[in-house]
Amino acid sequence: MPLFPDNNTPLSSKYSADLTPVTPFMGAQHSPDRAELVIFGMPYDGTCSFRPGTRFGPPAIRAVSDGIETYCPVLDRDLEDVRYYDAGDLILPPGDRDKSLDLIYQMACQVYESRQIPAALGGEHLLTLPLIKAAHLYNKDLVVVQFDAHMDLRNHYLGVSLSHATVMRRVCDFMLPSRILQVGQRSGTREEYVFSRSHGLLRSSETRPEEIVKWVADRPVYVTVDLDVLDPSILPGTGTPEPGGVTFQLLQDWLAAFRSCQVTGFDVMELSPHWDPTHVSSIVSAKVLRTLLLATAKR
Ligand code: MN
Ligand code: MN
Repeated sequence: MPLFPDNNTPLSSKYSADLTPVTPFMGAQHSPDRAELVIFGMPYDGTCSFRPGTRFGPPAIRAVSDGIETYCPVLDRDLEDVRYYDAGDLILPPGDRDKSLDLIYQMACQVYESRQIPAALGGEHLLTLPLIKAAHLYNKDLVVVQFDAHMDLRNHYLGVSLSHATVMRRVCDFMLPSRILQVGQRSGTREEYVFSRSHGLLRSSETRPEEIVKWVADRPVYVTVDLDVLDPSILPGTGTPEPGGVTFQLLQDWLAAFRSCQVTGFDVMELSPHWDPTHVSSIVSAKVLRTLLLATAKR
């Protein structure tokens, strides 16, 4: 079932016709055929409420990726041993939210149909909704871990129900809230905190990596990373920076711990590169993507 049936325009061929070709992330392979993971960018920031610019996130991550190593000493794994394909960026119509969400949903479904793992780059956090919807369609026991400074649990924001501020509440429309774990939150309305605590989404702002792995257990897990979970001193290039965030080391430890889990899909969201003239935010984001690729790859 399409997420938005009125906008059900199929992609015309596998990972090609409706994607912008790009210089791929690091050493991505040239064909999707034997890939375990498929990277694709989602350049859309139409509901962004404060500082826009996340539509420029995916190319910024690729552009700096040659500056980091393929080897990760924390995981003792190397991207050269991982089969991943970079499909490019989806062509999303600016100003048409529902059409954009539907194209993302179809892309994710295509990746699952090919028995591959989506590795999606945002873009604003609302775009995670169709990604989790697709992951849920293909994995009935799905659980979700949301790394974020914010709850994203508003029922409405500025009078609309589909916004980066409501994305996890919309996920709760089709998944039990008890199947979602929130990590790193430090900002929200009173109502969001009441909802999160009463439904058990938020455990602690200082969750340890082994606690996350224990919560996930043997269930398929979708991992969504809103990069503003990091402290703004580490990643200022984001739309809604929130002081009091975690260090890169802690985020890396959280993400590396998923090596013992069955990750069925993930995303890296909310990089807004032009707010950081040093480009360090893009480098940090590329390293987050590297960590997730390495922790997810099983073959
Ligand atoms: Mn956030
Ligand atoms: Mn968010």
